[in-house]
Amino acid sequence: MRERLREYMAKRRQQDPDYCQNRQPHVWDDQRRDGYHRRKAIKKGASTGRPVLLTEIASRDDWTCGICEGHVDHGLIWPDPLSPSLDHILPLSLGGPHDPDNVQLAHLRCNVRKGAKVSMPYRGGGVLPLHTGSKPGI
Ligand SMILES: [Zn+2]
Repeated sequence: MRERLREYMAKRRQQDPDYCQNRQPHVWDDQRRDGYHRRKAIKKGASTGRPVLLTEIASRDDWTCGICEGHVDHGLIWPDPLSPSLDHILPLSLGGPHDPDNVQLAHLRCNVRKGAKVSMPYRGGGVLPLHTGSKPGI
């Protein structure tokens, strides 16, 4: 079976060299992205139930990256490194809530580079209460 599939794919690639390479990129819409983060957050008991929508966060943040403070182009889509993404200021993996107050707009590149670290707060000021060991917003 695997042999036949391999033969088929080889033949298909000869006929059309772009086969499997010209598909639409995986498109995230607002609801899908929110559902993904919400499921992740629920698993960690961190969801507040308030919707976090990229377009809302982006207009609130004036299309400015919360990490590098550069402009974020809303015309770019994933996986472009400069495409908009949602950055959890206090990461979900560190107990941060999935809530609009804990989310900022960031370039995908900046967000990936940041990883599961706490963002330096450019907005709102103050320091996140990491040292207290308590989860903010709860
Ligand atoms: Zn950035």
